[in-house]
Amino acid sequence: ISRDDWTRSDHYHNSFLIPKDEALDFALKNSDDNGLPPIAVSPAQGKLLNLIARSINAKRIIEVGTLGGYSTIWLARALPEDGKLVTAELEQKHADVARANLEHAGQSKKVEILVGSAAESLAKLKAEPPYDLVFIDADKVSTLTYFLEAKRLLRNGGVVIVDNVVREGRVADPNDTSESSVGIRKLLEHLKNDREVDATTIATVGEKAYDGFLYAVLQ
Ligand code: SAM
Repeated sequence: ISRDDWTRSDHYHNSFLIPKDEALDFALKNSDDNGLPPIAVSPAQGKLLNLIARSINAKRIIEVGTLGGYSTIWLARALPEDGKLVTAELEQKHADVARANLEHAGQSKKVEILVGSAAESLAKLKAEPPYDLVFIDADKVSTLTYFLEAKRLLRNGGVVIVDNVVREGRVADPNDTSESSVGIRKLLEHLKNDREVDATTIATVGEKAYDGFLYAVLQ
Protein backbone atom coordinates (compact mmCIF):
# COMPACT_ATOMS: atom_id res chain seq x y z
CA ILE A 1 0.00 0.00 0.00
CA SER A 2 1.41 3.39 -0.99
CA ARG A 3 0.76 7.09 -0.71
CA ASP A 4 -1.37 6.94 -3.89
CA ASP A 5 -3.73 4.48 -2.16
CA TRP A 6 -3.89 6.63 0.96
CA THR A 7 -4.63 9.67 -1.18
CA ARG A 8 -7.37 7.83 -3.09
CA SER A 9 -8.88 6.74 0.22
CA ASP A 10 -8.76 10.30 1.61
CA HIS A 11 -10.45 11.62 -1.55
CA TYR A 12 -13.15 8.95 -1.32
CA HIS A 13 -14.02 9.83 2.27
CA ASN A 14 -13.76 13.57 1.60
CA SER A 15 -16.24 13.20 -1.27
CA PHE A 16 -18.93 12.44 1.33
CA LEU A 17 -17.78 14.63 4.20
CA ILE A 18 -16.01 17.73 2.87
CA PRO A 19 -17.81 19.74 0.18
CA LYS A 20 -15.82 21.63 -2.44
CA ASP A 21 -14.75 24.90 -0.92
CA GLU A 22 -13.82 27.87 -3.08
CA ALA A 23 -11.97 29.79 -0.34
CA LEU A 24 -9.82 26.82 0.69
CA ASP A 25 -9.06 25.97 -2.95
CA PHE A 26 -8.10 29.61 -3.53
CA ALA A 27 -5.79 29.54 -0.49
CA LEU A 28 -3.93 26.49 -1.79
CA LYS A 29 -3.66 27.81 -5.36
CA ASN A 30 -2.60 31.29 -4.28
CA SER A 31 0.01 29.76 -1.94
CA ASP A 32 1.31 27.60 -4.78
CA ASP A 33 1.33 30.53 -7.24
CA ASN A 34 3.44 32.48 -4.75
CA GLY A 35 5.97 29.68 -4.39
CA LEU A 36 5.02 28.50 -0.89
CA PRO A 37 5.81 24.80 -0.24
CA PRO A 38 2.85 22.34 -0.36
CA ILE A 39 3.04 21.44 3.31
CA ALA A 40 -0.33 22.60 4.65
CA VAL A 41 -2.45 20.07 6.51
CA SER A 42 -4.74 17.96 4.33
CA PRO A 43 -8.45 18.78 3.97
CA ALA A 44 -9.38 15.92 6.31
CA GLN A 45 -6.87 17.13 8.90
CA GLY A 46 -8.00 20.73 8.53
CA LYS A 47 -11.56 19.67 9.10
CA LEU A 48 -10.53 17.66 12.16
CA LEU A 49 -8.92 20.81 13.60
CA ASN A 50 -12.13 22.70 12.90
CA LEU A 51 -14.28 20.01 14.56
CA ILE A 52 -12.04 19.83 17.62
CA ALA A 53 -12.15 23.61 18.04
CA ARG A 54 -15.95 23.51 17.82
CA SER A 55 -16.16 20.52 20.19
CA ILE A 56 -14.39 22.43 22.94
CA ASN A 57 -16.29 25.63 22.12
CA ALA A 58 -13.02 27.43 21.46
CA LYS A 59 -13.14 31.22 21.48
CA ARG A 60 -9.41 31.90 21.55
CA ILE A 61 -6.91 29.92 19.49
CA ILE A 62 -3.15 30.12 18.91
CA GLU A 63 -1.50 28.64 15.84
CA VAL A 64 2.27 28.25 15.49
CA GLY A 65 3.26 28.07 11.80
CA THR A 66 0.87 29.91 9.46
CA LEU A 67 2.33 29.20 6.01
CA GLY A 68 -0.42 30.39 3.58
CA GLY A 69 -3.15 30.26 6.22
CA TYR A 70 -4.84 27.05 5.07
CA SER A 71 -5.15 25.51 8.56
CA THR A 72 -5.75 29.03 9.87
CA ILE A 73 -8.92 29.30 7.75
CA TRP A 74 -10.19 25.95 9.05
CA LEU A 75 -9.55 27.02 12.65
CA ALA A 76 -10.87 30.58 12.27
CA ARG A 77 -14.14 29.25 10.85
CA ALA A 78 -14.69 27.32 14.09
CA LEU A 79 -14.68 30.55 16.08
CA PRO A 80 -17.69 32.73 16.89
CA GLU A 81 -17.72 36.22 15.29
CA ASP A 82 -16.05 37.71 18.38
CA GLY A 83 -13.49 34.87 18.61
CA LYS A 84 -9.78 35.42 18.18
CA LEU A 85 -6.99 33.48 16.52
CA VAL A 86 -3.35 34.50 16.85
CA THR A 87 -1.01 32.80 14.39
CA ALA A 88 2.80 33.05 14.45
CA GLU A 89 4.85 32.91 11.25
CA LEU A 90 8.57 33.51 10.65
CA GLU A 91 8.43 34.47 6.96
CA GLN A 92 6.97 37.82 5.94
CA LYS A 93 6.11 36.43 2.50
CA HIS A 94 4.12 33.55 4.00
CA ALA A 95 2.30 35.98 6.27
CA ASP A 96 1.43 38.24 3.30
CA VAL A 97 -0.01 35.31 1.34
CA ALA A 98 -1.88 34.11 4.43
CA ARG A 99 -3.37 37.58 4.96
CA ALA A 100 -4.69 37.63 1.38
CA ASN A 101 -6.08 34.09 1.73
CA LEU A 102 -7.77 34.91 5.03
CA GLU A 103 -9.31 38.04 3.54
CA HIS A 104 -10.59 36.05 0.57
CA ALA A 105 -12.10 33.54 3.03
CA GLY A 106 -13.77 36.33 5.02
CA GLN A 107 -11.86 35.40 8.17
CA SER A 108 -9.30 38.17 8.50
CA LYS A 109 -11.17 40.09 11.21
CA LYS A 110 -10.73 37.26 13.70
CA VAL A 111 -7.06 36.59 12.88
CA GLU A 112 -3.88 38.35 13.95
CA ILE A 113 -0.66 37.24 12.26
CA LEU A 114 2.51 37.74 14.32
CA VAL A 115 5.50 37.84 11.99
CA GLY A 116 8.88 36.75 13.36
CA SER A 117 10.30 33.92 15.45
CA ALA A 118 7.37 32.09 17.04
CA ALA A 119 9.30 31.66 20.29
CA GLU A 120 9.60 35.44 20.58
CA SER A 121 6.01 36.09 19.49
CA LEU A 122 4.58 33.56 21.96
CA ALA A 123 6.69 34.94 24.80
CA LYS A 124 4.93 38.30 24.35
CA LEU A 125 1.41 36.84 24.59
CA LYS A 126 -0.50 37.07 27.84
CA ALA A 127 -2.59 34.30 29.38
CA GLU A 128 -5.28 36.76 30.46
CA PRO A 129 -7.79 35.82 29.20
CA PRO A 130 -6.44 32.33 28.55
CA TYR A 131 -6.65 30.45 25.26
CA ASP A 132 -8.66 27.29 24.55
CA LEU A 133 -6.60 25.61 21.83
CA VAL A 134 -3.04 25.73 20.50
CA PHE A 135 -2.07 24.14 17.17
CA ILE A 136 1.71 23.69 16.80
CA ASP A 137 2.91 23.23 13.22
CA ALA A 138 6.20 25.12 12.70
CA ASP A 139 9.89 24.11 12.95
CA LYS A 140 10.03 20.86 14.89
CA VAL A 141 13.30 21.74 16.67
CA SER A 142 11.46 24.20 18.89
CA THR A 143 8.38 22.08 19.52
CA LEU A 144 9.02 21.70 23.25
CA THR A 145 9.48 25.47 23.62
CA TYR A 146 6.16 26.05 21.84
CA PHE A 147 4.48 23.40 23.95
CA LEU A 148 5.64 24.99 27.21
CA GLU A 149 4.39 28.38 26.01
CA ALA A 150 1.09 26.75 25.10
CA LYS A 151 0.78 25.40 28.65
CA ARG A 152 1.37 28.88 30.03
CA LEU A 153 -1.29 30.40 27.78
CA LEU A 154 -4.06 27.78 27.99
CA ARG A 155 -6.99 27.44 30.36
CA ASN A 156 -7.43 24.28 32.41
CA GLY A 157 -8.88 21.70 30.04
CA GLY A 158 -7.29 23.51 27.10
CA VAL A 159 -6.00 21.46 24.18
CA VAL A 160 -2.65 21.35 22.39
CA ILE A 161 -2.34 19.64 19.01
CA VAL A 162 1.13 19.09 17.56
CA ASP A 163 1.49 18.10 13.90
CA ASN A 164 4.13 15.83 12.34
CA VAL A 165 5.11 13.86 15.44
CA VAL A 166 5.49 10.48 13.68
CA ARG A 167 7.39 11.40 10.50
CA GLU A 168 6.98 8.06 8.71
CA GLY A 169 8.13 6.27 11.85
CA ARG A 170 11.46 8.12 11.96
CA VAL A 171 10.78 9.65 15.39
CA ALA A 172 10.71 6.10 16.80
CA ASP A 173 13.91 5.12 14.95
CA PRO A 174 16.95 5.66 17.19
CA ASN A 175 19.18 5.77 14.09
CA ASP A 176 17.39 8.89 12.87
CA THR A 177 19.24 11.84 14.34
CA SER A 178 17.60 14.58 12.25
CA GLU A 179 16.91 17.73 14.22
CA SER A 180 13.15 17.39 13.61
CA SER A 181 13.02 13.88 15.08
CA VAL A 182 15.20 14.95 18.00
CA GLY A 183 12.87 17.92 18.57
CA ILE A 184 9.79 15.70 18.75
CA ARG A 185 11.56 13.21 21.05
CA LYS A 186 12.31 16.07 23.47
CA LEU A 187 8.59 16.78 23.67
CA LEU A 188 7.81 13.10 24.29
CA GLU A 189 10.47 12.88 27.00
CA HIS A 190 9.02 15.96 28.65
CA LEU A 191 5.48 14.56 28.53
CA LYS A 192 6.53 11.33 30.22
CA ASN A 193 7.02 13.25 33.46
CA ASP A 194 4.64 16.19 33.11
CA ARG A 195 1.68 15.49 35.39
CA GLU A 196 -0.15 18.67 34.32
CA VAL A 197 -0.91 17.34 30.84
CA ASP A 198 -2.26 14.09 29.47
CA ALA A 199 -1.52 13.22 25.85
CA THR A 200 -1.65 10.64 23.09
CA THR A 201 -0.21 10.30 19.60
CA ILE A 202 -2.47 9.28 16.74
CA ALA A 203 -0.55 8.13 13.69
CA THR A 204 -2.23 8.85 10.38
CA VAL A 205 -1.86 7.89 6.73
CA GLY A 206 -3.45 9.94 3.98
CA GLU A 207 -2.55 12.36 1.24
CA LYS A 208 0.08 13.84 3.58
CA ALA A 209 1.69 10.37 3.80
CA TYR A 210 2.48 8.59 7.08
CA ASP A 211 2.65 10.97 10.02
CA GLY A 212 0.67 11.81 13.14
CA PHE A 213 -0.84 14.29 15.55
CA LEU A 214 -0.12 14.57 19.25
CA TYR A 215 -3.22 15.56 21.21
CA ALA A 216 -2.74 16.89 24.73
CA VAL A 217 -5.12 18.20 27.38
CA LEU A 218 -4.05 20.49 30.19
CA GLN A 219 -5.56 19.11 33.37
N1 SAM B 1 -0.12 25.25 9.57
C1 SAM B 1 0.08 25.44 8.14
C2 SAM B 1 -1.06 24.78 7.40
O1 SAM B 1 -1.36 23.61 7.71
O2 SAM B 1 -1.65 25.42 6.51
C3 SAM B 1 1.40 24.85 7.69
C4 SAM B 1 2.58 25.38 8.43
S1 SAM B 1 4.11 24.90 7.68
C5 SAM B 1 4.14 23.18 7.94
C6 SAM B 1 5.31 25.51 8.82
C7 SAM B 1 5.44 27.03 8.85
O3 SAM B 1 6.21 27.37 10.01
C8 SAM B 1 6.17 27.62 7.65
O4 SAM B 1 5.39 28.63 7.07
C9 SAM B 1 7.44 28.20 8.24
O5 SAM B 1 7.88 29.41 7.62
C10 SAM B 1 7.01 28.46 9.68
N2 SAM B 1 8.15 28.52 10.62
C11 SAM B 1 9.31 27.83 10.58
N3 SAM B 1 10.09 28.16 11.60
C12 SAM B 1 9.42 29.11 12.30
C13 SAM B 1 9.72 29.87 13.46
N4 SAM B 1 10.88 29.72 14.13
N5 SAM B 1 8.80 30.76 13.90
C14 SAM B 1 7.62 30.91 13.25
N6 SAM B 1 7.29 30.21 12.15
C15 SAM B 1 8.17 29.33 11.68
